[in-house]
Amino acid sequence: MTSNEIGELFVERFAQMPTLVAAAPGRINLIGEHTDYNGGFVFPAAIDLGMLVAALPTQGPSEMYSKQTGEGAPFRANTVEKDECKSWSRYPAGMAWALREIGPLDDLLAVVDSDIPLGSGVSSSAALEMAFGVLWNHHCGLGIQPKELALLGQKCENGFVGVQSGIMDQMACAMGRAGCAMFLDTRSLEIRYAPIPDELSIVLCDTGKPRALTDSAYNERRSQCEEASCILGVPMLRDATLEMLEQSSAQMSDVIYRRARHLIPENARCLAFAGALERADFAELGRLMRQSHESLRDDYEVSCKELDAMSEAAWNSPGCVGARMTGAGFGGACVALARKESINEFCESMLAGYRAATGLVGEASACRAADGARIVEP
Ligand code: ADP
Ligand code: MG
Repeated sequence: MTSNEIGELFVERFAQMPTLVAAAPGRINLIGEHTDYNGGFVFPAAIDLGMLVAALPTQGPSEMYSKQTGEGAPFRANTVEKDECKSWSRYPAGMAWALREIGPLDDLLAVVDSDIPLGSGVSSSAALEMAFGVLWNHHCGLGIQPKELALLGQKCENGFVGVQSGIMDQMACAMGRAGCAMFLDTRSLEIRYAPIPDELSIVLCDTGKPRALTDSAYNERRSQCEEASCILGVPMLRDATLEMLEQSSAQMSDVIYRRARHLIPENARCLAFAGALERADFAELGRLMRQSHESLRDDYEVSCKELDAMSEAAWNSPGCVGARMTGAGFGGACVALARKESINEFCESMLAGYRAATGLVGEASACRAADGARIVEP
């Protein structure tokens, strides 16, 4: 999809030319899963599966159309309140709600087109938030820096949409850099960009199984982590060590113990991954990704048989450096790092292995690390 095509779609819809176009990427997370609401480390990359939004300021209410999901409920950018907006346009409406504290907004006519799969753990929701964020920021001269925009996106998702997500998705979408993954400390919001070696491809391996139970299970995991940190006497699990966990294990249930036993080493794995990527130590990258998957499967219990089968199929395929589930879990996608020179064999073998194990048809997309959300020429 190009900005010309989104322009044509806009003209079809509204019989006027758009004056603004924004682009926003999806994201994968190489390692560091469920750590972002525990003050820990994550290692995402924005990818070249992305979203375009064409827009034109209007006097009337904001009206939105998505090529993927159709018409959204109209809303007034300066007055819309939570619960008023039920359709997918609650994401742009929520961004308006978060942004208007900085300055008054114009309403927008807008058209969305995206090749980020919805609800597969590649963060289509953050892309939608950041695309509208950069549109309003640019058009209304709000002067918001990308990091602050990411925080406002999280505020939208937490306070308006009602999903208690961490900051990783919006930071990756707002601050991604072409060719690089980003080591992100979710407590300080400090980023270290890490070039992805030329000989590697990021492969998004979609199980085709929509996520289920995500919100309730996600919120349950969050409160289990809070319980664990409370017993361990630390502000967040980021601050705990495995020694502390062993010393206090008698004071907690087996479930709480295992949740912490995923999170504490997951932070260490994320740090180790940064070092291994720098040294191009592919064996270590693979080992860490596999450990992360197994820990999410056995201790954190957010995998499912499709994600397990997909990871397993990837591990057994030629050219695989590493693979694991990515995103919140319970369906969605795995992420793999594979050698570019064997990318076709890798994808073919991985999909065949997945199909043999589950009877399901998965999908593999080789991606490149991309830039964050931005205004593009209309
Ligand atoms: P994820 O962020 O992992 O893709 P979420 O459940 O957080 O999954 O967000 C998906 C929601 O975001 C969709 O249900 C829809 O409301 C909205 N969304 C994402 N992409 C689009 C799109 N192209 N058009 C309209 N709405 C979208
Ligand atoms: Mg999301």
